[in-house]
Amino acid sequence: MDLLTAKISEVAKNIKQKKISSFEVCDFFLQRAHKHNPQLNAFININDSVTEGARKVDQRIALGEDVGLMAGIPMGIKDMFCTQGLKTTAGSKILENFVPPYDATVIDRLKKQGALILGKLNQDEFAMGSSNETSFFGPVKNPWNLEYVPGGSSGGSAAAQSARLSMATLGTDTGGSIRQPAHFCGIVGLKPTYGRVSRFGIVAYASSLDQAGPMVSYVEDAALVLEVISGFDPKDSTTTQRKVPSFTKDLSENIKGYKVGILKEYLKKGVLHPDVEKSVDDAMSILKSQGCEFIELSVPMTEVAVSIYYLVATSEASSNLARYDGVKYGYRAPFKQLSSIDLDEFYMSTRGEGFGKEVKRRIMLGTYCLSSGYYDAYYNKACQVRRKLSEEFQQAFTKCDVILSPVATSPAFKLGDKISNPLAMYLNDIFTVSTNLAGLPGMSVPFSISKEGLPIGIQLQAAPFNEQKILNMAFNLENATKMSGKVPYGF
Ligand code: GLN
Repeated sequence: MDLLTAKISEVAKNIKQKKISSFEVCDFFLQRAHKHNPQLNAFININDSVTEGARKVDQRIALGEDVGLMAGIPMGIKDMFCTQGLKTTAGSKILENFVPPYDATVIDRLKKQGALILGKLNQDEFAMGSSNETSFFGPVKNPWNLEYVPGGSSGGSAAAQSARLSMATLGTDTGGSIRQPAHFCGIVGLKPTYGRVSRFGIVAYASSLDQAGPMVSYVEDAALVLEVISGFDPKDSTTTQRKVPSFTKDLSENIKGYKVGILKEYLKKGVLHPDVEKSVDDAMSILKSQGCEFIELSVPMTEVAVSIYYLVATSEASSNLARYDGVKYGYRAPFKQLSSIDLDEFYMSTRGEGFGKEVKRRIMLGTYCLSSGYYDAYYNKACQVRRKLSEEFQQAFTKCDVILSPVATSPAFKLGDKISNPLAMYLNDIFTVSTNLAGLPGMSVPFSISKEGLPIGIQLQAAPFNEQKILNMAFNLENATKMSGKVPYGF
């Protein structure tokens, strides 16, 4: 078994059969993480004590205990997830030294199935960004070309997984942060239906949009991790009571008869990078040869999705981030004598020093949208148009099973290219934000390599709770292209 290319189920099986120990597996990835992190900056903190956890798994196996579906598998976790006893920064100075006293529900579920935490991964500050350049801990590099961004906000997860510094990683996706970095780094990224996965213990960015999901090397691994993390959680009232399907057992490349929708709004001439356009065409040809039927559809509101998204997301963020006030936890500006300072000054210094530029921009935008004079004109209107967008998608999914599209207009862009132009950065999210606004499941599956040598993914979306359809279609594409699990040169 080659740990550089193996699937989770294979490694877990070998660990259970004592052909390899969890200690050996964890040590292998721990060493890789230490070796390559200085180049990539993918980890904010590497957890050296992962090997102690591995020893425990090995001991339990020796005693014949049931160690779960992910027995002894080391995982990298985006720094948005609370991990008991391990720093959780959300990529921000304001949480630089925050050590959560509890685990997020998804972390708890992974641990119950035997998974181990290898480290916490870099990200855009509070998951606000599309290039991982807003992190307080510095930008992450794309392992396919170190001059390029890995995408964002789960850039650390994508880079670490792509360079195979971890067996699997977790990301969060509020407007594309799992799918876009997966596309930029050539890995599989799945954003589940809103409500499929608990948000309890995940640092909140925009609560009506946030979802956690797997960022892994193979479609089968995505199915497995999704199965483990999904399900009702009494601590998150937005989670569904539905039974969690057996995503891995039902994984099938037979997609004959699937109806695939193509949105005419997404394929306007002159918008796409030629290699991205070609990938969409090639994916369509493959799927046609597999017995899929194509339907052209229109979802007109996608044209204003970026505008809706940046009103809803910033409004929710401005409210969610009010908790970072220097009183309860997190960073507090240094004052010699607390008793003599003015409260406003206390808040202003703490938040002024603790938050980065992009986070402040969004708090201001969101506060403005929610202010009494503008609430109706901006926030309320955005919510109304969002509903319309959801209804249009609902309609579209009465005619098709899956919608196929690009993930972004181009492959990864260069570090520094867009960071000084927030509008250009926001527009990069054009194909991903609708999925979150409508609460749909969405996925990026590796498809090809551009002429510049950068990965290109294909995006698949389905109606709520139809993850199996996109998994099966991605599985089929993966088998046809053999593009999954490729480790970039030098790693
Ligand atoms: N790029 C989008 C933003 O900056 C999406 C981020 C995300 O999904 N967390 O908000």
